[in-house]
Amino acid sequence: MASKNISAFVLVIVGVVFSSQASAADFPKATEDLIGSYRYLEARSQDFLEKFDKAEEPMSDANYADLIATRVLREQVAHLLADRLVKSDSSNEEVAMIREFKAPQRPGSYISSLPLTDDVLEALGHIDEDSPAKRDARQALIARIEKLYSKEERIELEKNWGTGEVVQAARAQARDFKAAGTMEAEIRNYARRLVQDVVLPKTRKPSSGARVGPSTGAEGNLTGREFPSKMWAITYDDGPARQTAQILDELLSRRMKATFFWLSKNAPGYEKTSVARAKKEGHGLANHSATHQQLTKLGSAGLDKEITESTKTLERIYGQPLGFFRLPYGSGVNNTAIRDRIAKAGLIHVYWNVDTLDWQDRNPDTLYSRTMKQVARQGRGVILFHDIHSQTVVASRRVMDELRSQGSKIVTMAEAVSTINGGTP
Ligand SMILES: [Zn+2]
Repeated sequence: MASKNISAFVLVIVGVVFSSQASAADFPKATEDLIGSYRYLEARSQDFLEKFDKAEEPMSDANYADLIATRVLREQVAHLLADRLVKSDSSNEEVAMIREFKAPQRPGSYISSLPLTDDVLEALGHIDEDSPAKRDARQALIARIEKLYSKEERIELEKNWGTGEVVQAARAQARDFKAAGTMEAEIRNYARRLVQDVVLPKTRKPSSGARVGPSTGAEGNLTGREFPSKMWAITYDDGPARQTAQILDELLSRRMKATFFWLSKNAPGYEKTSVARAKKEGHGLANHSATHQQLTKLGSAGLDKEITESTKTLERIYGQPLGFFRLPYGSGVNNTAIRDRIAKAGLIHVYWNVDTLDWQDRNPDTLYSRTMKQVARQGRGVILFHDIHSQTVVASRRVMDELRSQGSKIVTMAEAVSTINGGTP
């Protein structure tokens, strides 16, 4: 049984890494393995996070690539799980398994903010309620889930997250698969490949009078290290989402401007709300691709869709030309084919030099202290947040206040480039 577990586990993760789909015959075993993979990756990235926080210079720490690699893998596993739920041949057993995995997730909890939640909720909407068999299965499931996690257990689970007990539990669960070592090696190998294209892009030397513009060369990356001292751009990726309106409120009450790197698949749903507001309130609006895929894995047609077409879509929705692009996961930052397309769309690629890691860390206190530690070290630059998490609303508000009290100048990316290029800020 153990060796069967290992081979299935390895197959699944290799399948994930190389973007191939396991066959339907693997159900529901493959689903079980995917859930194990997810829990393992979640626990492992917590370890990488701890190392990142201890590093003297986090942005050049070797663990940073591992951290990003686990995020990429984890999101791929989440998508595979969501795909399995919508498959018409999903067995009741498999649906039950994924729902049990989702069981402790509820609004406001740590677990509810896992990227999987929205996908799964959406996928569950596809289950035909009118089919008596599925209705019965659903009833049975709900009863099982209630038994599995009592209200008290759920409260306990959430309370203990901060102490790392949930991480320990997830790690123990991953060990049950007896394939943690293999998974570990996969992450390392994956991170090694990813590191070629991500983390600390080659950057132009900060010099007075340096001109910044769309560039096919890797030296065209803006990282924030080109900024004058005490100048900061606060940036938010992956939205627009529910949390965007709250962030806009915080910015408005402080008369501060940020830059939003949004996905063109998300923007239409917020066209009359957050998108219209951000434009009216003077924030920078930028592109973060169409669907947040790892662009280094795409061919020409995929890159057209993710870079060229998404720029057109966003420009139409914003009603103004875009100036900036940020690669999903920062992956492809030194890749010529990708850089050519970004330049052809007239965009400057923007990296970051302060990573808040708000996609991994749900605690606003540690998010805030991690950010300010890097801010102190870097002295100026680009701060990376994501406007899809509630902890980000709290942490970024505190960062805004602290930057202001330190006498920093908060700018949009366009204002920063104008300053660097010798215009008035
Ligand atoms: Zn992103």
